[in-house]
Amino acid sequence: MKVLVINSGSSSLKYQLIDMTNEKVLAKGLCDRIGIDNSFLKHTKTGSDTVVIEKEMKNHKEAIQQVIIALTDEKTGVIKNMSEISAVGHRIVHGGEKFHDSVVIDEKVLQAIRDCVPLAPLHNPANIIGIEACQQILPGVPMVAVFDTAFHQTLPKYAYLYALPYEIYEKYGIRKYGFHGTSHKYVAQRAAAMLNRPLEELRLVSCHLGNGASICAIKNGKSVDTSMGFTPLAGLAMGTRSGTIDPAVVSFLMEKENMSIKEVNDFLNKKSGVLGISGVSSDFRDIHEAADAGNERAQLAIEIFCYRVKKYIAEYSAVTGGLDAVIFTAGIGENNSIVRRKVVEGLEYLGIEIDLEKNETRGKEIDISAPNAKVRTLVIPTNEELAIARETVKLLKQ
Ligand code: ADP
Repeated sequence: MKVLVINSGSSSLKYQLIDMTNEKVLAKGLCDRIGIDNSFLKHTKTGSDTVVIEKEMKNHKEAIQQVIIALTDEKTGVIKNMSEISAVGHRIVHGGEKFHDSVVIDEKVLQAIRDCVPLAPLHNPANIIGIEACQQILPGVPMVAVFDTAFHQTLPKYAYLYALPYEIYEKYGIRKYGFHGTSHKYVAQRAAAMLNRPLEELRLVSCHLGNGASICAIKNGKSVDTSMGFTPLAGLAMGTRSGTIDPAVVSFLMEKENMSIKEVNDFLNKKSGVLGISGVSSDFRDIHEAADAGNERAQLAIEIFCYRVKKYIAEYSAVTGGLDAVIFTAGIGENNSIVRRKVVEGLEYLGIEIDLEKNETRGKEIDISAPNAKVRTLVIPTNEELAIARETVKLLKQ
């Protein structure tokens, strides 16, 4: 069974074709600048060089068409024709309170995803366009929606409600939803496998540290709290996002800097985080380079980022009532040994201690705990595409 995984953005579309008999990626790629000028498709057949195909793609339907052409082409292709695609798994950002799990897409589900647009006005419309484009190009092929928010639907009410007048929750659904759920769930399952224990009896804190970053407290296999909120702006300091700040800063800025709603949103989402503090970059590789060269703001950005992750681990250890393992995943979590070391420094009192030599490993599954540590520290590369493909197969077998 071959599953096409689609992650559709407003002007881009990422894809992977996975053979689920052995879970191997056959090909993957990205259509970029869809609907803008100079659009192109970057395609990699596993084991071959990446090719960049410049091709006008006026909309997502044309993008999917190009993906199918690349997948079936004599040179770049991995299948003879599109009938070999058994199913499509779509990454959907927001499922609101409607979706606690992945679902097979039908007209009712599509409408429910549309109903969630006010909660994710930038992301859900792009996801819907991706689904509709696939329906047109691959008619009759079953499709599954996998939501970033679904894993966190198990949060207890006292954890997800903000201390705002209750009516505002009833009227607009303003509450914590959380994101990165597919990743947190996947690494939690891998952690259970690595520890050779049932997920249902583990207490975990998962740290997904990429450009976007979030922490999740997982108890008995269920998400019980998470650092992102109503939107992915809350929680940790991120590449360009502020994370949690005093909400009064918003009105202060709007008044003093004469900012509009859009400007203040851009300020917090695109100009803040480690980029804003360092003034250097949103990418940790650049920040470390500047910090090593003596740039104090770059050094400060690293300190602030690590300090917040550390505080969340301690806070969530209270939520889970003790810890069995801490998980590091995503670009920074998988590759950045300096961040991992700084984060766990001072958490020895919780039983977290790492082996500094093992900590130098990057990009692969490894237990980096010190031999006597009471809590395991695990580095686990995330794989959201595989997780989506697995969900797709699981649902279609039911
Ligand atoms: P996104 O949220 O965009 O998927 P990623 O998970 O790719 O983000 O994470 C991006 C961050 O991970 C950057 O700050 C980058 O410095 C870091 N990163 C990614 N790959 C590596 C690597 N091989 N070595 C060191 N840092 C890396």
